[in-house]
Order: sequence, then structure tokens, then C-alpha cells
Amino acid sequence: MTKIWSQLAVRLAAAAVVGLLLWPVSGAPAAMGFFAAILLLMLLHHVRHLVRLSRWLADPRPEALPASSGVWEDVFAAFYHLLRRQRRSESRLTATLQDFRRAGMAMPDGLVIVDGTNQIEWCNPKAELHFGLDAQRDVGQLVTYLVRQPQFADALDTQGYAEPLTLRSARGGDLILSVLIVPYEANRKLIISRDVTDRERVETMRRDFVANVSHELRTPLTVIGGFLETIADMETPNPELIRRSVPLMSDQAKRMQNLVADLLTLSRLESAGNPAREEPVNVPDIARALYHDALALSAGRHKVTLVLESAAWVNGAEDELRSAFGNLVSNAIRYTPAGGEVQLSWQDVGDEAVFAVRDTGIGIAPQHVPRLTERFYRVDRGRSRETGGTGLGLAIVKHVVNRHAARLDVTSEPGRGSSFSVVFPATRVIAARGRSDAPVRSLRA
Ligand code: ADP
Repeated sequence: MTKIWSQLAVRLAAAAVVGLLLWPVSGAPAAMGFFAAILLLMLLHHVRHLVRLSRWLADPRPEALPASSGVWEDVFAAFYHLLRRQRRSESRLTATLQDFRRAGMAMPDGLVIVDGTNQIEWCNPKAELHFGLDAQRDVGQLVTYLVRQPQFADALDTQGYAEPLTLRSARGGDLILSVLIVPYEANRKLIISRDVTDRERVETMRRDFVANVSHELRTPLTVIGGFLETIADMETPNPELIRRSVPLMSDQAKRMQNLVADLLTLSRLESAGNPAREEPVNVPDIARALYHDALALSAGRHKVTLVLESAAWVNGAEDELRSAFGNLVSNAIRYTPAGGEVQLSWQDVGDEAVFAVRDTGIGIAPQHVPRLTERFYRVDRGRSRETGGTGLGLAIVKHVVNRHAARLDVTSEPGRGSSFSVVFPATRVIAARGRSDAPVRSLRA
């Protein structure tokens, strides 16, 4: 500023000095005329620059800065620097905004920003997925119009947003969302959604499981408790009643023992820190042992046969495979009426090896087959209980099969019988070649 004043003062002083020098030589009018002409030139110079400045301000680009001279050089230079600083901070702000957007896009949770009237301002891809929104198309739309859930609309209108709300079937599917509404600034809101479908499913399974276990334990405990109460209430012991009740109580105790044993097996199989061992397992030996177990279980009521057409072993955990195959054999005997047939077999099928148990028993209607491996799923609850079933046998089989990268094939026809096959992939099979054990034998009993 002082520079402008001093420049102006110097120019005016110079014009005045020249005018004063002219005065004695050319007379007063000429000297005054000269001074006035200089003032006019200075005025024109400033007006010209003012016009340039006002034109440039209409579109102030640093590269289009007009040419200038004198004090205006400094003024335009100051504008130029101001503009450059502004451009730099603008691009810094844009970069920061883009960073925030990118972070929002990468968030594993859904994010929707709505204004005071619940109109969508922005949403990230996860929110598009959760609520079926379209980030381009739905900007400006009412979020309550697109997410038509009364409890969601209520929550948006309520002031206390502390608790997340659970939205089911937000997109009409089986998606379950936990949605938190966070107010910010004057009246805008941030809607944060998280997919909790798996968590809810596990929670439902846990509740069902506890209910099922309690239900399974209640009957035997009621029976045992009933007998014990009767015996305790007797004034004089009734040896006959005691003699009759002891085997019944011991049956129920056995049932509880079986249930607890199966539950422990399942929990061991499910524990994450317990991967399946991988050691060579002699399946033909297991099949032979199970064949003898089947004969004992059947007690002569069935025709039991063993078909050993493969000498292959598999890589896996022997106790787990023994328990899974044992469950299949015990089921075949339990669900096959006297006079029926049960066949155990171990065969090579292409590169794969198959352990199968076939029976000519009661069979299973097709609608039940996909659910057989669910815990406590039984086609006929009464029959399962009568024969000492826990409802966990096939759940154990499924776990063991999965842990061995194998697959369980089930075919069945009501009234004609069932076939349960555990198919081991080539990667698990240790072929007889290269091993020094006995050659392939076929045994039919
Ligand atoms: P359970 O202890 O009740 O036998 P499982 O898990 O072993 O439980 O089997 C589940 C259900 O599958 C059984 O209750 C039964 O209804 C059916 N099931 C299993 N194996 C057979 C089979 N070989 N023949 C007919 N039904 C079977």
C-alpha cells in the first residue's frame, strides 16, 4: 500500500517539478497545461487497468492474468498469488474429500447420509447391497420410501438412536441387518448397516440346540426321578418294584450316557483348534471289525454281508472314521426290521474309494433326506428313541465326512431300504499298490 502511495507521490512530484521548471520559460498556462495533461494520462492509465481488472475478475484464471505496468503490476501479482493459494487449498480439500469417499466406499458396513428431511445425500456400495439402493439414481429420494420398514421409519423419526435396530428381510431375501442411526450436524443422519445374518443364524442354532438337548435329557431324567421318588416314598421297600424299575432306570441312564457321548464327539469335531489328523487308516480292517459289530447288534435278526473289493487305505483320523462308519452300520441295523439285509462294502470307484452301508429297511421319504444330517433331526422320533438313537449320529457322520474332504451320498426309498455311501476323493486314497499289506480279498459273509 505504502509502495503505491510512494510511487504516486514520486510521479506527481516529478510532474510538478517539470511544470515549475516550465513556468518561467513557457509561462503559467503552458506549465499548468502540462501538469493537467500528466494527471489525465495517469487517470487514463488507471482506468485502463481497472477495466482489465474487472474483465479478468469475471473469469479469474491465473494463466489469463492481463498485462500490467506500474502500480498495477503489484496489484495483479497479489491477485495472482491469492488465486494460486486458493487453488492449492481447493485441490487439497478435494483430495481429502475423495479420501473420505474412498474410505466410505471401502467400509465393510453400509453407510447412508440423509438430510433433515430423510432424503439420501450419499451412500456407499455396501449400503446399496443392504438396502437395494442405487448411489446414482436414488440421491434425493426419501430413504423411508426405499426402505419400507415401519420400525426403520420410526427409528429415523425418534431422537434417541442409541440402540441398533434389527431389520429382517431388508431386501425381501433372508438378509438380517443391524442398523444404527447416528445424528450429526444440525439435522443430518448417518445410517450404518451391518449384515448380521450369519450371527443371527448361529444364535438361532444355539438356542435350538440348547432347547433340543434339554428336551432330550428331560424324558430320561423324569423317568429316573419318578422311580426314585416312588421308592423314597415307600414306607416298606417293595423288592418287586425295585427289581422292575432298576433296568428301566439303567436304560434311561444309558440313553443319557449315549447322548452326552455323542455331544462330546460333536463338540470335539467342531472345535476349530482340532483339525483332522492325517495318518494312513486301514479301512478294510475297520470294515471287518464293523461287520462283526453288526452281527452282534443284529443278534441274528438280519442277513449281514461284507463286500471288501478294495484294499485301499485312506489318509485321515482312524477313530473318527470308525465312529462315522459305526453310526451308519448301527442305523442300518436299527432301521431294518428282522429278516432284512444289511450290506457293508469298501470299493474302488474310478479314482475314488467308497465305504457304503446298504439295508433293506424302512427307508426314508425323499423330503427328509436333505435334513438327515441336522442335529436331532429324526424321521420317526419314537422309533429312533426306542432303538436308543440320540438324533446326532448322522450329524457326526457329516462332520467326519467334511473333515476328510469326502462326501456323503444317500439314496433311499420308503419300504425298500437305504444306502449311505462315504465317497473319499483320490487325494485321500492310498492305493493298495506300493503298500506291503495283504492283497485285495473279497469276503462275503
Ligand atoms: P438317530 O439316533 O435318531 O438314529 P441319526 O442322526 O443317526 O439319529 O439319524 C437321523 C434319522 O435318520 C433317524 O432318526 C432316522 O429317522 C433316519 N435314518 C438314519 N439312518 C437310516 C436308515 N438306515 N434307514 C432309515 N432311516 C434312517
